[in-house]
Formats: sequence, C-alpha cells, structure tokens
Amino acid sequence: MHTLQEIQTQYARLPEVLLPWYQANARDLPWRRTKEPYCVWVSEIMLQQTRVEAVRGYYERFLAVLPTVSALAEASEETLLKLWEGLGYYSRVRNLQKAAKTVMLEHGSVFPQDYKSVRALCGIGDYTAGAICSICFEQPRAAVDGNVLRIMARITEDFSPIDLQDTKKKVAEYLENVYPVGACGAFTQSLMELGACICTPRSPKCAVCPVKSFCFANENGTQSELPVKLPKKEKRVEEKTVWLLECGDAFAIEKRAEKGLLSGLWQFPNAIGVQTPDIALRTAAEFGVQPTELCREVHKTHVFTHIRWEMTGYHMLCNVRDNRFTWATREELENIYALPTAFRIFLEE
Ligand code: SF4
Repeated sequence: MHTLQEIQTQYARLPEVLLPWYQANARDLPWRRTKEPYCVWVSEIMLQQTRVEAVRGYYERFLAVLPTVSALAEASEETLLKLWEGLGYYSRVRNLQKAAKTVMLEHGSVFPQDYKSVRALCGIGDYTAGAICSICFEQPRAAVDGNVLRIMARITEDFSPIDLQDTKKKVAEYLENVYPVGACGAFTQSLMELGACICTPRSPKCAVCPVKSFCFANENGTQSELPVKLPKKEKRVEEKTVWLLECGDAFAIEKRAEKGLLSGLWQFPNAIGVQTPDIALRTAAEFGVQPTELCREVHKTHVFTHIRWEMTGYHMLCNVRDNRFTWATREELENIYALPTAFRIFLEE
C-alpha cells in the first residue's frame, strides 16, 4: 500500500514524460486530425466497445454521409442503422441522434463547450464528456475508461477494483489535478495511447514504456495482478432457431420490435428454442412460404453484454414469398437493410 503522497507524486510525473512520448509515437488516426467536437464525439462513441481498426471505416463512412450535427439530427432511422450496422450496441447511434437534436434545438446548432452541457447530452457519460472537453476545448477534464484505469492501477499499484464508481472518481480527481495547461487534449490522448499500445491488458511492454522508471507495478513485478476487477456475472444463454428462407433470389426478413435488444433492426425469422429439422420445416410451412428443401443446418453463437444467443439456422428453399415477410436480395441486404451481426453471420456461410 502506497502513501497518498507517493501516489500524488506518481500522477504529477505523468505529463512531463507522456507528452513528449505521445508527440513522437502517436498513431495517425482519422479523428486525431481534427478538434471539431462533432467528429471527436462521433469517434468516441464509436470507439466505446469497438477496436480502433474496426472503427476507421465506419467513422469515415458516417462522416461522409452525415458531415454535420444538423445532418445527423435530420437523418432517417434506416440511414442511421445502416451506417452503424455491424458496430453493435445500436442504442449508441440512437442516442447520438437524440443528442444532435438537442444541440440543434437547445444550443443554437452549435456544440456546447461547457462540461455540464456536454455531459447532459444523451449518451454522453463522464468519459466521453471528458474526452470532448479536453481534446476539443483544452479543458482539464479527465477521460477515464478501462484503459486509463488499468494504467493508473499499475503505475500506483492500486488494488481497488476498477469497476467501482469510487475508484473511477478517485482516478479522475487525481488526474484532473495534474492536467497540463495548454496540453489537455494531448494529455488525454497520451493516456489513451499508452493504454492501447504499451500498457495492454496482457503482456504490457514495460521495457519500452515511457513511465517504466517510476511505475510501481513494474518495480514490484505486479503487472499481471493489476487491475483488480469484480467477478463478472454469468451471461444468460438463449437458444434460438433461425430460418434463412430463400425464394428465387431473395431472403425473408422482418423488422424487430421497436423496443428491446436490436430494436428497429432487421432479422431473419426466428423463434426461441431449438427446433429439430422436421419441426423447423413444419414451422416454415406454417409461415406460408411452402418450403421445398432444407439445404443446410448451421450453428452460430453471438454474444451480447448480458446474454449469449446459441442459434441453429436452417437454410430452406421456398416456393412462395408470403407477404408477412419482406423479401430482400443479397445486394439489398448489403446496401439497404440494417441486419445486425447476430444474423448477418448466417449470410457469410
Ligand atoms: S511500466 Fe509496464 S505496467 Fe507500468 S505503465 Fe508501463 S507498461 Fe504499464
């Protein structure tokens, strides 16, 4: 256990080593070429739960179609969901649009600059508000995510569980005390970069780390014990049967309910529970599509935050395009309908 003074000293030493290191080593990422709050905001929302490499393409496509807050506020739901297709956590893009509408209505179409107003926007939590305010407006606001919590737990050898709100608050407070005037954005980004490239969850690259000379975990060999996390809850498993009903060159799809998981997105017809091939064929007949052949059975798993879908998919050829479904060609599924990854994975087979 280290003393408060030792811990504060660790924090105070960060800017002087991290800023020059960041300047020399920062990756060239599209959202780092701008301080435009709209762009930084979109990138930060996309980067939540998603890898940098996966976000690149989405970010560029999103901004090409919706280059301004007003364009986002006015976009149709289909456009939004299609632009987000495959990124998952679709509430993120719905909240982006809600917040864009608030910017238009309550802030005269200009992205607000004060922390409280930014934090009050839909879908923006402490982390995103801190990132936007420090990167775009040079305010000493910390952006504390899992990466930053891991780095700070190791540097200060802090064994408090990082999932606790108190731990996050403490780290944010200590960091904000040492934010360097005039380099707040660079400091936030240097911490993100250190977590992403050097102090990674497994096998941190301590030998080339800019803070190795004063990191307590490095000194005491406790890197692999840190950070401490509370035990995770078991995910609920839900078994499903999915029908890939093909008639001519089109597949049957339907829109999901407006509320709940993957709301408003498209899906292949499906039901809770695993049906045997015979029963699945009978159910398909009840759909009114006159199945003629069961070509293939495929098993897929898709994991959400709290639930895991274990899916049995049946590819069937059919004679009738019953109008309870929408019928979409592969090209239309590619370009028009937002089909979440949980279902799209069947198309890849
Ligand atoms: S020295 Fe190692 S454990 Fe410490 S911050 Fe750097 S990479 Fe992480």
